[in-house]
Amino acid sequence: DPRINGIKTRIRVVPNFPQPGIMFQDITTLLLDPKAFKNTVDLFVERYKGKNISVVAGIEARGFIFGPPIALAIGAKFVPLRKPRKLPGEVISEEYILEYGRDCLEMHIGAVESGERALVIDDLIATGGTLCAAIKLLERVGAEVVECACVIELPDLKLYSGESASQTHLHALHS
Ligand code: 5GP
Repeated sequence: DPRINGIKTRIRVVPNFPQPGIMFQDITTLLLDPKAFKNTVDLFVERYKGKNISVVAGIEARGFIFGPPIALAIGAKFVPLRKPRKLPGEVISEEYILEYGRDCLEMHIGAVESGERALVIDDLIATGGTLCAAIKLLERVGAEVVECACVIELPDLKLYSGESASQTHLHALHS
């Protein structure tokens, strides 16, 4: 799709952020270009419209940027998957392993019901550990994860080999 190259050129790569050796993919520069930002949302909307998806789950923090416009356009609700102790209501939690240490995602109990069809949105997949935790949260409440979608897939990184995060679950705009 010719739109993908326009999106790619708007993503800034910042070397040595947040630590030495990391090439950080910065999507804030993509947001500065309304056309490229709209094309990003549109590409996902075209893929998921009419697929009977009732919930778009966005991962904190950058899944909160791309998730809501996609949810509105496909007629689904938006559910934030947040870092620990941010959500005020009763939550379920899923811990996951990072390259160094652990992290956790939480979801409000009652936000998603059994049998719902869910789409998970984040800006970037590296190991897939974060998306895997998101899939587990949704599956624990009986939802079906139709797909996980990201703007960026980091190449040359082995995907996390958890039970749920397989490549068949994943759609990334560019790598
Ligand atoms: P994973 O769990 O797949 O290893 O890492 C993906 C998570 O880390 C995503 O939530 C993503 O936002 C964040 N992340 C890791 N590296 C980068 C990066 O270079 N740029 C951005 N924007 N996010 C990153």
